[in-house]
Amino acid sequence: MSDCLFCKIARKEIPAKLLYEDEDALAFEDINPQAPVHVLVVPRRHIPTLNDLTPADDALIGKLARISAGIARDRGVSEAGWRSVVNVNREGGQLVFHVHMHCMGGRPMFWPPG
Ligand code: AMP
Ligand code: ZN
Repeated sequence: MSDCLFCKIARKEIPAKLLYEDEDALAFEDINPQAPVHVLVVPRRHIPTLNDLTPADDALIGKLARISAGIARDRGVSEAGWRSVVNVNREGGQLVFHVHMHCMGGRPMFWPPG
């Protein structure tokens, strides 16, 4: 998608603090962090929401989870704990319609989320 924010970040048309990238995915710092660790892990391919996944995406989503865990480990929050969040559509709080996994940590998280 040419006008999608995260597609533009993936194509390096918009700057981001990139932490990781490979042929399938990238990870970058959230521009408005809600925790000491707040990283977004996104597929390179434009997928609007989790509602749009097909069985062909199973491995890709697993990879996003593994990359998130690697970032949590690198940031030193694996043992204390961290949170993975994917917001879906309006009531889920999704603002950017390109699938992204929030990797958040470095402070206590509360349940249920707001
Ligand atoms: P969501 O509400 O789940 O769609 O999350 C979108 C996230 O993208 C928010 O946490 C924003 O702070 C973040 N965000 C928006 N624009 C940028 C940007 N240019 N670079 C990095 N993160 C961004
Ligand atoms: Zn996109």
